[in-house]
Amino acid sequence: MLNIKQRQQNLRTYYRFYTGDIDGIEGSKTKTAYKNFQRYTGLSQDGIYGKNTNNKLIYVIKDLQGKLNSKGYNLQIDGIVGTKTLNAIKDFQKKNNLTVDGIAGTNTYNKLNQSGPSSVNYRYPVNYINITQYYSNNHKALDLGWSSNYGGKNQIIYACYDGVVITNSYASDAGNYIAIRHDNGDVSRYLHLNSRSNLSVGTKVKKGEQVGIMGTTGNSTGNHLHFDLTKNGSRVNPIDYLYVYSDQIVSNACKNSVKYN
Ligand SMILES: [Zn+2]
Repeated sequence: MLNIKQRQQNLRTYYRFYTGDIDGIEGSKTKTAYKNFQRYTGLSQDGIYGKNTNNKLIYVIKDLQGKLNSKGYNLQIDGIVGTKTLNAIKDFQKKNNLTVDGIAGTNTYNKLNQSGPSSVNYRYPVNYINITQYYSNNHKALDLGWSSNYGGKNQIIYACYDGVVITNSYASDAGNYIAIRHDNGDVSRYLHLNSRSNLSVGTKVKKGEQVGIMGTTGNSTGNHLHFDLTKNGSRVNPIDYLYVYSDQIVSNACKNSVKYN
C-alpha cells in the first residue's frame, strides 16, 4: 500500500484530486480526494482507501509515467509520483506551451495522448547558429546562415533528430533538399543544399548525422539553410522545438532567441 504522503502526492498530481498539503495526515481533504478519485475511475465511492483504490492509484500513475516515457523521458515506472516524475511533467508542459503546474490534468493528458508532437529535443541542424530569417506566416521556417569563422559558406547540415529519409530531391524553389520523418511522425526538411544529399530515401539517420552541405540552389539569393518542421500536418516554428547543444556555437545576435539543451 502507498503510504499517506504518497497517496496525497499521487492524488494531487493526477487531476489535482487532492488539494491539501502533503502532510501524511488522512484528514477530510484526503478522504474527499479518495472519494472523487474513486468516482472518476469507476470504483465504488466509499471514501475508504482499500486495495482496489490503491491498485488503481498506482495504475494511473504507471500509465502516466509510461506516456511520459513515450515522449522521450526515462522514468522508472513505479506508480509513485516523485521528483523525477514531477520534473518530467513540468518539462513536458513547458515544451508544449501548457501551464507549468506539475498537474497531469485534461490539457496535459490531451497533449500526452497526441500521437504526433512529442517533446524530443531537436538539435539545431548546423553547428554555427545564426538565424538570418525567423519564422512568420510568409516564411514558415528558419533560415540559418554561415560564418567565415566557422567553416565558411558550405556548413555541414546535420539531422536534427533520428529518423528516416523520405525525400531526396530537387525542386525549382527548394533547390536540392532532403526530408526526414522522425519516429514521432514529425518531418524536418533541409533546403537549398549545394548538391544532392548522398542519403537515399529509406536511409535511417541519427541525430547529428550529416545529411548535406549548405548551398544556394533553387530560389535562394545566398548560401543558407532553409529549415522547416512539420507536426501533425502543420509547419510549426522550429525555434520552439530546436535546442542548442553544448558543442554548438550561437551568434551573438541570436543568443537570447534560442533554447539551450
Ligand atoms: Zn527560408
